[in-house]
Amino acid sequence: MKKQLSALLFVLLFFIVSSAIPQQIKREICVTIDDLPVVTKYFKDIDTYNYITDNILAALKKHGIKAIGAVNAGKLYNGRTFYPERYDLLKKWLADGHDLSNHTFGHKNYNELTFAEFKSDITDGEPILNNILKEYGKELKYFRHPFLFRGNTKEKADSLQAYLDSRGYVVTPVTVDNGDYLYAAAYEKAKFDKNDSLSKVIADEYVDYMGRVLDYYENQSIKLFGYNVSQILLVHANLINADNFERMFSLFESKGYKFITFDEAIKDSCYQSKDEFYKKAGISWLHRWAYTQGHRGDYFKGEPEVPDYIENLGK
Ligand SMILES: [Zn+2]
Repeated sequence: MKKQLSALLFVLLFFIVSSAIPQQIKREICVTIDDLPVVTKYFKDIDTYNYITDNILAALKKHGIKAIGAVNAGKLYNGRTFYPERYDLLKKWLADGHDLSNHTFGHKNYNELTFAEFKSDITDGEPILNNILKEYGKELKYFRHPFLFRGNTKEKADSLQAYLDSRGYVVTPVTVDNGDYLYAAAYEKAKFDKNDSLSKVIADEYVDYMGRVLDYYENQSIKLFGYNVSQILLVHANLINADNFERMFSLFESKGYKFITFDEAIKDSCYQSKDEFYKKAGISWLHRWAYTQGHRGDYFKGEPEVPDYIENLGK
């Protein structure tokens, strides 16, 4: 009897202890960087472009990250004039083992165009990307929608997807969407004005914000799927990221995140989910899927907001 009791106690103890150990949450994230070679508003000189590229690549290397850079090939030209020094910036990405995707030639707004009009912006971006990727033994494979706009009607969304499929493109979805570009505009303006104390405040707030954004989408994923999906982050090739990627990636690591490639991330079955969100907004794929599954209102609450003063600084 005593033996049975202690066995029972042992089993009881086992359940108490094991339920107290939190289930290990999968924390993996792939990094995608848009608007290559560089996106700036005030600084347009090649030295700044090189600085941004070099700093971003150094931070990626330090954290063992292999990223996909989404290229707007139109930025390599001014009218018919070709900028070889901007083309060379893209070579740096490939030399470091990153991949490049087609982000269209001119980053046009699909909501304002017909499919036929938008299609040419995809093909216009192809020749130069095919060229540069070939130099590094790669082929053009990935596509990133400008503004994350997939089409504001079912017909437009379906036409675009069918076209991308027919050309063998793999769409790179985004789950961790954010307002990095708003902080970037404010930060670059402060840098341009040589206001170092302000640029530091903006940068500190930005890194904190990105940490909260990551927490938010982790939670959104768990609410939708019951687990944390292999996340895909969207950030831009701008000055604020050049100066702050290092500590932002360290912050992500301190939250338990491990960096994975896009090809690893896309294996997550979540990416097979249906997307029937045919509105104008460019939003996280998590929210596209949630909307498709009938979620409204409450589910979407709590997204970290970019303060008005940051938005106004960048205007
Ligand atoms: Zn873009």
